[in-house]
Amino acid sequence: MVIILLGAPGSGKGTQAKMLSSKFSIPHISTGDIFRKNIKENTLLGQRAKMYIDKGQLVPDKVTCEIVDDRINMEDCKQGFILDGFPRTIFQADELEIMLKKKVQDIDYVLNIIISDQNVITRLSGRRMCSCGQIYHIDRNPTKVDEICDICGENTYIRDDDQPNTIKTRLQAYHQATKPLEDYYFQKGLLLEINGEPTPKEVFDEVVSVIN
Ligand code: AMP
Repeated sequence: MVIILLGAPGSGKGTQAKMLSSKFSIPHISTGDIFRKNIKENTLLGQRAKMYIDKGQLVPDKVTCEIVDDRINMEDCKQGFILDGFPRTIFQADELEIMLKKKVQDIDYVLNIIISDQNVITRLSGRRMCSCGQIYHIDRNPTKVDEICDICGENTYIRDDDQPNTIKTRLQAYHQATKPLEDYYFQKGLLLEINGEPTPKEVFDEVVSVIN
């Protein structure tokens, strides 16, 4: 099964992808996570991606497509995978088609998680991360002890690209480059719309019901 999650930054794609990954036992592939891992390890890819990510801009299509092509050709993707944050442009969507054709795989569902722009800003500006992968929000899902992860006890932190100006640029990039994908996948009869405003659990229930 191949599932694509579309939606603005902060719409909850990552959270839903994690839940889907454990329900269907297929890998969760987040291009943002791959870039962040490379930035942390200071690889050449990380150094290149950081120049764009820190400004809230999209990483160029070619390099992004290459990392996805490598990842989906790994052994664990044979039964399918969940793409979170890819494709983000029409070019990437066209490239994905070519990649999947080579693997003789088809896209099963494109889930478009919809939240308002105002909510994007509220969610991203209050988001707190932990290096263990746990994600919090200062109002919606706070840590029990201020700035300390409930799971591993490490200090939480704010993502570099969750700063107010960068959030604005990311939102613009979403509207200009990514939103046209809604029509792209609608035309192919693959688009399913999900209300991303309720709690993660409620959103997941809707995701499961539309898939079924
Ligand atoms: P995310 O964690 O999905 O919000 O991604 C964080 C940042 O990584 C984005 O703001 C982009 O700069 C970059 N990025 C992630 N996925 C892509 C993609 N498919 N195309 C271009 N840039 C991406």
